[in-house]
Amino acid sequence: EIMRKNIVAGNWKMNNDLSETEELLGHLKMQMVKEPEAEVMVAPAFTNLYTAFRVLKDTPVIVAAQNMHEAESGAFTGEVSAKMLKSIGINTVILGHSERRAHFHETNEILAKKVNAAMEQEMRVIFCFGEELEDRKSEKHFDLVAKQLKESLYQISEENWKNIVLAYEPVWAIGTGETASPEQAQEMHAFIRKNIAEAFNDEIAENVSILYGGSVKPANAKEIFAKEDVDGGLIGGASLKALDFIEIVNSF
Ligand code: PEP
Repeated sequence: EIMRKNIVAGNWKMNNDLSETEELLGHLKMQMVKEPEAEVMVAPAFTNLYTAFRVLKDTPVIVAAQNMHEAESGAFTGEVSAKMLKSIGINTVILGHSERRAHFHETNEILAKKVNAAMEQEMRVIFCFGEELEDRKSEKHFDLVAKQLKESLYQISEENWKNIVLAYEPVWAIGTGETASPEQAQEMHAFIRKNIAEAFNDEIAENVSILYGGSVKPANAKEIFAKEDVDGGLIGGASLKALDFIEIVNSF
């Protein structure tokens, strides 16, 4: 029996100040159906997390952070720890987003530490990974994805997989308006599941939710989500518009 959940997560990135965030949260709260077909998450900036948590407390929408530091506390000016997030009610964190990798030099090794820190605090992780255009052109995309998973994720225990959500995000499709075709997404998601089955076991592979990310919008969500191994999406741009995001959530 396959237990994996459909999930739609909105990554708001470095957008929206407090009042803009309150406005978007208000729309989501009023317009989202009470029992969506998918688990719904939104990830506002750090400054807006506590407000988001309070506004969405009595709704099915889960609030996630976009990043965190791997240490518990200490001399890491400008950083935020898992414990701090948990203390304001945030139990979910996005790790490994391609923008963190590209602009903030997060390596597979650093990400392994962040994943471990999240697991220790029993946080849920939306772990992002995916190839760049060059990798796909040179047909190294499967190897590259396998390496990202192996080096950052496969050190966790079998028990910890219940707190992992995967987000396959081909870098060439993020914020570019170019999406992977549903077939390309399905092909990679099936590969990922097989890779996990080989490294762990079938049960873990079948039960982990694998989201697709990269220019998902209301017009293409249905056909992408319809693929067997695609369990939802991580949404950037389109998650900033309440109606678009809700339409994507309703695409299952
Ligand atoms: C993302 O940043 O995770 C993402 C998928 O962005 P977009 O939907 O804008 O391509």
